[in-house]
Amino acid sequence: MNSNNLKFLNPFVDNLPGDTEPRNFVRLVRDSCYSLVQPTATSKPSLITYSQELAELLGISPETIGTETFTEVFAGNRTVPGSTPYAMCYGGHQFGHWAGQLGDGRAITLGEIDGKDGLSYALQLKGSGLTPYSRTADGLAVLRSSLREFVCSEAMHYLRVPTTRALSLIRTGDQVVRDMFYDGNPELETGAIVCRVAPTFLRFGNFEIFAAQRNIDVLKKLANFTIRTQFPSIKSDESPDCYVRWFRAVLDRTAFLMAEWWRVGFVHGVMNTDNMSITGLTIDYGPYGWLEDFDFGWTPNTTDAQTKRYTFGKQPQIAKWNLLQLANVLCLLVEEPGPLQEALDEYDQIFEKYYMEVMRCKLGLREFGDDDMQLVQELYRVFESIEIDMTLFFRSLANISSDSSSDHNWFQTVRPALYNPDALSSELHEKLENWLRAYAARVQHQSLNPGTRTELMNNSNPLYVPRNYLAQLAIDDADKGDYALLRQWMEVLKNPYQEQSGMDQFAAKRPDWARTRAGCSMLSCSS
Ligand code: AMP
Ligand code: MG
Repeated sequence: MNSNNLKFLNPFVDNLPGDTEPRNFVRLVRDSCYSLVQPTATSKPSLITYSQELAELLGISPETIGTETFTEVFAGNRTVPGSTPYAMCYGGHQFGHWAGQLGDGRAITLGEIDGKDGLSYALQLKGSGLTPYSRTADGLAVLRSSLREFVCSEAMHYLRVPTTRALSLIRTGDQVVRDMFYDGNPELETGAIVCRVAPTFLRFGNFEIFAAQRNIDVLKKLANFTIRTQFPSIKSDESPDCYVRWFRAVLDRTAFLMAEWWRVGFVHGVMNTDNMSITGLTIDYGPYGWLEDFDFGWTPNTTDAQTKRYTFGKQPQIAKWNLLQLANVLCLLVEEPGPLQEALDEYDQIFEKYYMEVMRCKLGLREFGDDDMQLVQELYRVFESIEIDMTLFFRSLANISSDSSSDHNWFQTVRPALYNPDALSSELHEKLENWLRAYAARVQHQSLNPGTRTELMNNSNPLYVPRNYLAQLAIDDADKGDYALLRQWMEVLKNPYQEQSGMDQFAAKRPDWARTRAGCSMLSCSS
């Protein structure tokens, strides 16, 4: 690849106020949306894997992928002419408390590229060294967390869940010190860099920082820029109404995202306002996890194990709390807060609308009626009392016959989703059977032909999700330099709704050994 072929644009830098201090040292930065900073060169970068489809979208030809130049550019060793790398300034509420300035402590945006779909995409290196926002940390990322981000963000894309994406995963050749369990036992780990890609990486925190600094001028500039570039259907005329409409759009996208996380069984793990995308994307894959045994009260994040703020079940309400923080910021741009409050008051209803649509599809219903919420609640009561793999359960539900004359062995149909079917008490067995019977009766009484119902369900209930323990297996191999499992898995994850022959291992529920192993059930923020 000739690095001249990449045409970077820098609208963020060209249009918004930046830091005037050119030196790269950790500091508080005021009145600036970004600081210009060069990625730190890595010692011996090598390409682990990449997303071919995304490369094509960005106009990077297949022949150039894997060339030395490609690896050097996306390891941060070579600056492409025309790009002006920068780190963003943002703040955030962490675990419910204002944390002040945070910013891109280890992410550096190279610039934007026009995609073949007519949209513009920012390319950002994560783990590329110190920036003014690195605070007490090192600006680096380790292979295990980079691989997890690469896999999960691409998997989310193919699951049709709004997300940032990942172009490349590069081993830096450098080692990074990490105290994975914060127990005073630091170890040397393999360093890595993900090049992630999104129309924008702006977060709620990018706006919060200027409210904290009481800098309405920059806040307004950033808001106008965001509306103009990311919400083109809203006329950015600086009127209070345009900011309210923008807030409504952010709220709508966020509510949709929360329903989608519930659809696929994703737990973000650190829903601080600095990890909330202003365009409703899943962003910042850290100690996230995928539900195995369905549990509303589960969080994969060890840091949150006691407080349980960011459990699967609380995500929609936490998103609303985060939207409230954003509304507080936007109060500075509107004459009176009433319309923002009204929008916020509609959040529950909007979330429920999306959620009901999600459940309609997951259950294969033509319409979601009033009684169906009761069926869903009843299902959760079953889930609470029995250890069931959510993904396999919903997938197998499509095989429950809607033909009333057929032989019913409903329990056998969903048996593969149960963690301990032989140990199930007769009482719980009956509870599950009762629900399945009610469900079968429900689908028999609707005029949706069986083929359409199956299609609807299999298109909403994925068979392959990036299971926590599979990520750990891929990490163990990758650490030793063996990327075969990772690459094969990525291929499977490209078609998550389609059963693929010979790929059962990628749909298997969590094996017993993974129940307690670090990285498989609990993750620390250390990355
Ligand atoms: P997180 O909650 O992991 O998204 O990160 C919170 C803040 O810590 C952000 O400002 C990150 O940029 C910063 N941060 C996390 N890890 C590092 C690191 N290794 N080096 C520098 N900054 C980091
Ligand atoms: Mg973050």
